[in-house]
Amino acid sequence: MGKHRDWRCSFCGKTKDKVRRLVAGPGVFICDQCIQLCNEVLESNEQHGRDLSIGPDSEVAEVLLDELRINAAGLKQSEEQLQRAVNLLRKNQVAWSRIGEAIGTSRQAAWERFSGED
Ligand SMILES: [Zn+2]
Repeated sequence: MGKHRDWRCSFCGKTKDKVRRLVAGPGVFICDQCIQLCNEVLESNEQHGRDLSIGPDSEVAEVLLDELRINAAGLKQSEEQLQRAVNLLRKNQVAWSRIGEAIGTSRQAAWERFSGED
């Protein structure tokens, strides 16, 4: 006898008679209160994961903005490089149709984008 009275929650240490339920696992016990606590932690983690705390002032927003800055800077740089290359090509009388073809667009679109005229 008495052995069951020594059962206690492995997490909070409450004995069997101090809790409503004590669930036995292999070598461990968990009480109803700790189960409740686990559920709350899991639930709040799920909610956390769902919106990833993407508020306007969150760390995630800052990281995304940084990425945007880097990409925009890279984009601007490649645009400038393209423009320089096109300028050189035009200086050498290369046709707009060939420039357009090289960048995967039409003669008209290439002209509109790089000619600087309108
Ligand atoms: Zn417990």
